[in-house]
Amino acid sequence: MAEVDSGISEYDSLRRPDGDAPLSKKALKKQQKEAEKAAKKAQHKLGKDQQSHADVETEDYAKDFYGNLPMIQSREKVDRTLHRVSGLTPSRADEKVWIRGRLHTSRSKGKQCFFVVRQQKWTVQALVSVGDRVSKQMIKFVAAVSKESIIDVEGYIRTVPNKIDSCSQEDVELHVEQVWVVSPAVPRLPLQVEDASRPETEDALARVNQDTRLDNRVIDLRTQSNQALFRVEAGLCKYFRNYLEKQGFVEIHTPKIISAASEGGANVFEVSYFKSKAFLAQSPQLYKQMAVCGDLDRVFTVGAVFRAEDSNTHRHLTEFVGLDLEMAFNYHYHEVVDLIGNMFIAIFKGLQENFAEEIAIVHKQYPAEPFKFLEPSLILDYCEGVHMLQEAGVEMEEGDDLSTPAEKLLGRLIKAKYDTDFFILDKFPLSVRPFYTMPDPENEKWSNSYDMFMRGEEILSGAQRIHDSAFLLERAKLHEIDIDKIKGYIDAFKYGAPPHAGGGIGMERVMMLYLGLDNVRKTSMFPRDPKRLTP
Ligand code: ATP
Repeated sequence: MAEVDSGISEYDSLRRPDGDAPLSKKALKKQQKEAEKAAKKAQHKLGKDQQSHADVETEDYAKDFYGNLPMIQSREKVDRTLHRVSGLTPSRADEKVWIRGRLHTSRSKGKQCFFVVRQQKWTVQALVSVGDRVSKQMIKFVAAVSKESIIDVEGYIRTVPNKIDSCSQEDVELHVEQVWVVSPAVPRLPLQVEDASRPETEDALARVNQDTRLDNRVIDLRTQSNQALFRVEAGLCKYFRNYLEKQGFVEIHTPKIISAASEGGANVFEVSYFKSKAFLAQSPQLYKQMAVCGDLDRVFTVGAVFRAEDSNTHRHLTEFVGLDLEMAFNYHYHEVVDLIGNMFIAIFKGLQENFAEEIAIVHKQYPAEPFKFLEPSLILDYCEGVHMLQEAGVEMEEGDDLSTPAEKLLGRLIKAKYDTDFFILDKFPLSVRPFYTMPDPENEKWSNSYDMFMRGEEILSGAQRIHDSAFLLERAKLHEIDIDKIKGYIDAFKYGAPPHAGGGIGMERVMMLYLGLDNVRKTSMFPRDPKRLTP
């Protein structure tokens, strides 16, 4: 150990500072004590200096194995495989792999840091502990990485003696040798993924409210239930397409900017269009019919539909995704009703069979009864539905439109009687349908039109359309439609038009009701409603 110069010699300590007579015993003792104290202080300071000197000298031996990656600007191609977290299994024990994911959680203790890497719905535990390759400084760095940052991690897959319940990869963990931050997240997040993932059954205070979620949708989308939900939604569109393509339908694209409101002036957004104005399409209705008149025979389209309705409900959006179809039939519109009923069965089955895991994940956060349907689909006449409601005490006439509460009640009555969450109501009153709806041939009080319901809420509206141009004109006039504004549509029927029928479906509504959710905003990735236009 280095010697320490206290600045006071043994001789000095025996004399008074002014060089006069020797000190008393007491004074001597005091002086000695002070000297010892000063020596201790000096020793401490020296120790500190030596330590920091040593720090500079002993380089961080792990410094090449962690840090912040320079921004990836596609400067170079790196020949490295980044493995999927889902593929980290005991059968690959002791393999060394690179993974990229988000830092989900981390917890450091002494010479170790446990952290969880999340990749969509998959998670794996990682352990970094001081050793030959990992320094204390590296642990400190890893522990300070903020949650949700994207990181590249290299490590050995190791099996674990006890299952890790909190991770999707329960049987393995990663023993880490390198950690690089690819893209850091700010340390203070507007909401925690963990909180946004809490089941509805938990205390509302611990959960995140809907507006906070939607304001920060990018983070909200990272929850397991949203990861699952939007995959189920993609499945819904896929099975819609698949089924119709197998039935000979052609996918078409219709204009969204139109010169006149397709079904009357209400509920339509006006936009400026150079020196004049235009409107956003409330549905692809007129165009899909014109496509049938153009001999495409069977068509469908998936696209944005706009409704300027100031409806602040759990099921209305101002922009939604329309799943629309239209087809020529031979002699009776029930050919189309049956096809659509079978299409829904194919969709429900496709989801059940291929998205069971995703559906279960959504239900873990948002518990709901599984969706039930019959094969073939239950079809009731509108009148029968009204009678069921009347029997249940609802005061309404046969020709009245169904109110929302009546629809819901009917859904419950039908579920109790037929054990199905999906049904079709046929033959609606003509007076509650648009001008192009074909009236019933026997009684003009009714029409060849139908709605379809899931869990007691309407998800499809459809009908046989009038294909006779003179009759169409007559009906349009009766509805006080400005004929000049839809001349192109009316004319389409002058040149011979096949009898046809179809329907329009709201994608978000189908998804909400299939999963048994309470709000259509949950199934719209970036919902638009009267109060929300961002993000
Ligand atoms: P509702 O009576 O529920 O307002 P609607 O009778 O206006 O619906 P249609 O114009 O027949 O509905 O549209 C067909 C389908 O489009 C509906 O069954 C529904 O699935 C969907 N849909 C209609 N309006 C909306 C909306 N504002 N938000 C979300 N989906 C909608």
